[in-house]
Amino acid sequence: MALIRTRFAPSPTGQMHIGNLRTAVYAYALAKHNSGQFILRIEDTDQKRYDPQGITDIKNNLTTFGLNWDELYIQSERKKAGIYQQTAEKLVSDGHAFYCRCPAKNVKQAGYSTILRDPCRDRGLTSGAVKLRVPDNQQISYHDFVLDKVVSWDTNTVYEATLLKSDGFPTYHLAAMTDDLLMQISHILRGHDWMPSTPIHLLVLDYLGNRRPEIGHLTDILSSKGGKLSKRRDSVFCEAFLELGYLPEALLNFVILLGWAPKDNQELFTLEEFVRKFDPSGFQKANPLFSDTKLNWLNGYYIRQKTDTQLIQLVKPFVKQDVTDTKLAQITPLIKDRLVKLSDFPSLTGLFFSPPDLDKNLFDQPDLAIEHLTLATEHLSSSPWTKEAIETGLMAGIKSHGWKVGDFFMSLRVAVCGSRATPPLTETMLVLGQSESLTRIRNAINFLGQLG
Ligand code: GLU
Repeated sequence: MALIRTRFAPSPTGQMHIGNLRTAVYAYALAKHNSGQFILRIEDTDQKRYDPQGITDIKNNLTTFGLNWDELYIQSERKKAGIYQQTAEKLVSDGHAFYCRCPAKNVKQAGYSTILRDPCRDRGLTSGAVKLRVPDNQQISYHDFVLDKVVSWDTNTVYEATLLKSDGFPTYHLAAMTDDLLMQISHILRGHDWMPSTPIHLLVLDYLGNRRPEIGHLTDILSSKGGKLSKRRDSVFCEAFLELGYLPEALLNFVILLGWAPKDNQELFTLEEFVRKFDPSGFQKANPLFSDTKLNWLNGYYIRQKTDTQLIQLVKPFVKQDVTDTKLAQITPLIKDRLVKLSDFPSLTGLFFSPPDLDKNLFDQPDLAIEHLTLATEHLSSSPWTKEAIETGLMAGIKSHGWKVGDFFMSLRVAVCGSRATPPLTETMLVLGQSESLTRIRNAINFLGQLG
């Protein structure tokens, strides 16, 4: 098989959209599965949207997800070297493009949708913006390797797009196709939004190199709120997910499954595993749904794959209180099973730092709870502070009163933790210490007593 070379070609316009991460990981896997090369190309020739920090952010993001590139190109540097000017001039001299001097305003007034043939196309101008000369009455088609179908256009419906602006800056149409050819890209993988521009690109590719890379358009990601995922309404940026404490490996696994599926329904993929199993026939034709539940499930899974020591380091940035490493090491394993995202750490561990607010509705039977808690204080105030001593003594007391074990521990749980769903109770009391645990139980007895 010929060498596979794919590219990820983001514009540095701010944060990384989750759809872009998906494009990047698919392009990476397509290349690496075939021992090919993954190219990072920064498409920064649109000066209006330029963000100088953007290139660093893109690199950092890719590195976070392990998507290491083999070659890096920056289009603004290539523009300075005159590469796009040269290809634009070649297209003009070959008769496939022409100079245009229509003021941008006039073109707008004319409207792209009704006037598809540019007034300057036959004026023989020798300077100005460069536009594509679109042939009349032709069919232009390609086979989309993601959608696995042939897509065609009638050239009479294709407008004469600007390739090089009068200020010498190339448009995406020219810069991307020039580079895809010069960089020997074998597969163009990109978002569905680019589909309407594809006939323009096919013409440019044919005219410039008479060679077309394979082209594939990824499906749109749908929001659970309906319609396409939208940055105005949905959370869509990788940085925002990472800040909430989604792990990179969970987010990556999640996007891998947004539009691609293996034959055997496997759901857990590390990057290496995905590269190994990648097969373009796994691309889905239907638009995938962004499911928070699935993302949360994956994140919980990857959190539980961490050792306690790793997890302690990961939760540290989310801890609000001033807490010693020893205390953190005691608490973290107790909530590991219930942690969905790292930013949940403060709400799950608040009970270790301050006494809970008590709520009478959490106690099933307040009078019985007073009896339970009274027994608990009797035993706990004289018990050695070990798991075994605490539990053996309490069990003996429960048995002698003939209480239900579950009822007793629920009373104690609510008194100590202020909630019915908590970390393991004895372990929690061990971390809180004997004095604090007893204070909380006595407070609860008083609270219940005052309810009268
Ligand atoms: N710069 C384009 C974008 O960020 C790249 C599209 C492509 O992959 O060709 O959308």
